[in-house]
Amino acid sequence: MSIDFYSQAVPSITALSPYRPGKPAGELQREMGLSDIISLASNENPLGPSPRALAAASAALMRVERYPDGAGFELKAALSSAYNVGPERITLGNGSNELLNLVARVFVRPGDEVIYSQYAFIAYPIATRACQAHPVEVPAKMYGHDLTAMAGAVTERTRLIYLANPNNPTGTAFSDSALRAFLDAVPAHVVVVLDEAYTEYVDVDAGLPNGLALIDEYDNLVVTRTFSKAFGLAGLRVGFAVSNPQISDLMNRIREPFNINVAAQAAAAAVLTDSDYLQQVLDTNRRGMVQVSEGLRRLAVEFLTSQGNFVTLDLKRDAQPIFDSLLRQGVIVRPLQPYNMPHHLRVTIGLEQENARFLAALERALMC
Ligand SMILES: *Cc1c(COP(=O)(O)O)cnc(C)c1O
Repeated sequence: MSIDFYSQAVPSITALSPYRPGKPAGELQREMGLSDIISLASNENPLGPSPRALAAASAALMRVERYPDGAGFELKAALSSAYNVGPERITLGNGSNELLNLVARVFVRPGDEVIYSQYAFIAYPIATRACQAHPVEVPAKMYGHDLTAMAGAVTERTRLIYLANPNNPTGTAFSDSALRAFLDAVPAHVVVVLDEAYTEYVDVDAGLPNGLALIDEYDNLVVTRTFSKAFGLAGLRVGFAVSNPQISDLMNRIREPFNINVAAQAAAAAVLTDSDYLQQVLDTNRRGMVQVSEGLRRLAVEFLTSQGNFVTLDLKRDAQPIFDSLLRQGVIVRPLQPYNMPHHLRVTIGLEQENARFLAALERALMC
């Protein structure tokens, strides 16, 4: 090539490392000729989709010659009644990841500061750099968000703050009172994105916040949720944000006109009514978390206590050989080098037999 297009690109984008998704099972199959692979790499729902969501998506496929409803009327109505928020406060996203980017594009100018925590979800630094903004990464406290330090990091150039509760990949969470104190300390014009991708898994008695309950109180709060985890629709790509109506109006101005396809809109609206499915998902996760935690204790492997559907192991040494050994045994987990956590591996809680297989494979990997 006679022109180096990397040198032509926006420097903050050339400097980005691309988001590295979990290794697809098909890729491992091709590389190693393995047939029996389990994927515990991307915090997906091990139960498969809700039958009600599948039926709705199939019916919607009969209408794919038409554009989707660009306003997402039915899905917003379903969300509005499920969560008791007005549809004018809802923005739909092609996964919540799209919303994390949209909010930055609305508010962040080149050179502005965006704050997030060390070890927080990697989409935040990517969204920040894509806007040519200055990332302000605040050191974590016991792997979790240090909300006091984060509030203290606000300057006159701060536009946006990302919080994840519970956080991926650490599984840490902060309390309702800590969040309120943080929101009270942050200037009212600084937008705070509260990413609640794992909120469904959180024990209701644990004293953790429900961001949607704070929306009326804090005009600068944007809560993002997803259908990719507990609702089992990762492959269809649907998320939503709840905010004050001005912010949702602004985000709606720049989103792609038809960003949620017809099958995804129908499936998401349907799964919201499938409380049996959600209950089964949460029961499976609770039992699996006990099974994996007990197994790790038996193997004397340390791990971070997690409020989500995954757990992060602290192997106290380079995790890559363990990761590779697990791969050779057909078990895909997530290495955490992109988070500067080279001694850690993240594993999604799976079905009982998947968890057992992971633990057995880990035991073998640790012996080498
Ligand atoms: C998985 C995840 C998301 C959701 O991503 P989608 O784009 O909705 O699939 C968002 N935030 C965090 C912290 C996650 O782990």
